[in-house]
Amino acid sequence: MRQKIIAGNWKMNLDLDQGKELLIKIIDSDLNSNCVTIVAPPYIHLNSFKMLLSHTNIALAAQNCHQQDSGAYTGEISVEMLKSVGVEYVILGHSERREYFQEDSIAISFKVKNVINHGLRPIYCCGETLAERQEGEHFITIETQIKQGLFHLNEMELLNCVIAYEPVWAIGTGETASPEQAQEIHKFIRNTIAKEYGGMVANNISILYGGSVKPANAKELFTCPDIDGGLIGGAALDADNFKALTDSF
Ligand code: PEP
Repeated sequence: MRQKIIAGNWKMNLDLDQGKELLIKIIDSDLNSNCVTIVAPPYIHLNSFKMLLSHTNIALAAQNCHQQDSGAYTGEISVEMLKSVGVEYVILGHSERREYFQEDSIAISFKVKNVINHGLRPIYCCGETLAERQEGEHFITIETQIKQGLFHLNEMELLNCVIAYEPVWAIGTGETASPEQAQEIHKFIRNTIAKEYGGMVANNISILYGGSVKPANAKELFTCPDIDGGLIGGAALDADNFKALTDSF
């Protein structure tokens, strides 16, 4: 079902004590309960965060996972392990994973399937680089990422995914896509899904925008008809900003 969502991607920030301190501030900040709220801290925080979140409506996400269930994959974490500490969502295909860890949409599609198979929900990221936008290739980039990363799923599986459109040129740069630019791509993503799976599926998927979202620009973005919330990096590391973002619907 299409939901309003604010998801905070903490990336590789904050040690465990700092993380707990921020999480407790977020829990105490009386978040708007009209949206689904998700925090995605580093792996090592997840286990103790689950306990802190047990009497709240805040859901826990991981920032990545491995595509296999177990085995000789030194340094990796499986979906089953994430599930065992209460994780409900997994961010996949973030542009930083694509850029620094050479993950492409085909490789990510295996992770997507594994997350779904274990009953968790992928937050699948897509987005074009600045060069691709300047060359007018942004639609084809997004279409390819969506088709390769998600179109191996059946209808029910796809409905369990959340999509995040994150133009690479807007992530951590302070530069945000205008509401018109973001809405255009969100509508394009929905149409791409509708062509393959029909309107019911397309209309019931939450599509988040990410890229320098902050309280000052969130309302304008979130009132666009095809934008269902945000995947937030920098602004999610401040409890007041995070609360303000949940109040932006
Ligand atoms: C992100 O990393 O997903 C993101 C959108 O970061 P920021 O909000 O800092 O641009």
